[in-house]
Amino acid sequence: MRNWALVTGASSGIGESFTRLLAAANFNLVLVARDEVRLNELAAGLKEKYGVDSIVIVADLATESGCFKVEEFISNNEIEVLVNNAGFGINKPFTVSDLAREEEVLKVLVRTPMRLMHVALPKMKARNSGVIINVSSVASFIAGGAYSASKSYLTVLSESLHTELSATNIKVSALCPGFTRTEFHQRGRMKMAGLPQFMWLNSDALVAKAWKDALAGKAVSIPGWQYKLLVGFISLMPRSLVKRVGMNLRVKQR
Ligand code: NAP
Repeated sequence: MRNWALVTGASSGIGESFTRLLAAANFNLVLVARDEVRLNELAAGLKEKYGVDSIVIVADLATESGCFKVEEFISNNEIEVLVNNAGFGINKPFTVSDLAREEEVLKVLVRTPMRLMHVALPKMKARNSGVIINVSSVASFIAGGAYSASKSYLTVLSESLHTELSATNIKVSALCPGFTRTEFHQRGRMKMAGLPQFMWLNSDALVAKAWKDALAGKAVSIPGWQYKLLVGFISLMPRSLVKRVGMNLRVKQR
């Protein structure tokens, strides 16, 4: 019998890569996002290629009802793998950004993963098994606006849970990617033309690395030598410099 894995933001990019990796690892999938057509196409493709079953949950995770729908599903079913991945970028400085958009950042990037873990973890503890991967960002190590602050929450909470659950068989890991080729930058209308080629990561490759790191019990996964180096530098830099780098790295609006 196959175990079930739930992926938020399954319709595109890093989330979609996770669904293919988990299907290849013989998990049935619960696919969560807003785009029903894409999720159904994905479910059909996973069935055809890997023979796994999928359940589609259409939910806007910025809404209370969308978040509750997924919480309820987790509470009524046994989910072995939870991937908190849904997210988007915000490219305007805080003082001129739209307040409603800022609140959506908190709801999708912070509130939803927190609540899904809060409902999933007691069940994982009762079974003494489970894997949670929180898709954070290298932005969680810098000071680059509300997006970066939200990702810091996710990285720090993942590290805390990793410690809290260290005596159990439950793995919690924060995946911290750098710039990755997905729909993220196009959707966020970000200007990416000047970014050197070597800074771009491949979504399938980083997801394979994240899965390996999570199973190996790593609290934080940073795929790619360039980003390991960057995060290493950041950890040695004075905070005053990190603050300046953070604001300069913030991607500009198209
Ligand atoms: P993407 O291709 O734009 O995918 C984003 C996914 O999130 C989509 O499946 C989208 O689905 C879903 N989503 C967005 N808002 C949602 C909402 N309100 N409710 C439900 N689902 C929602 O971007 P990606 O790069 O794969 O992003 C995945 C994660 O990686 C994000 O958390 C992002 O912050 C993180 N990340 C990305 C990069 C990068 O450079 N790409 C770097 C570091 C971290 P629907 O539109 O169908 O709802």
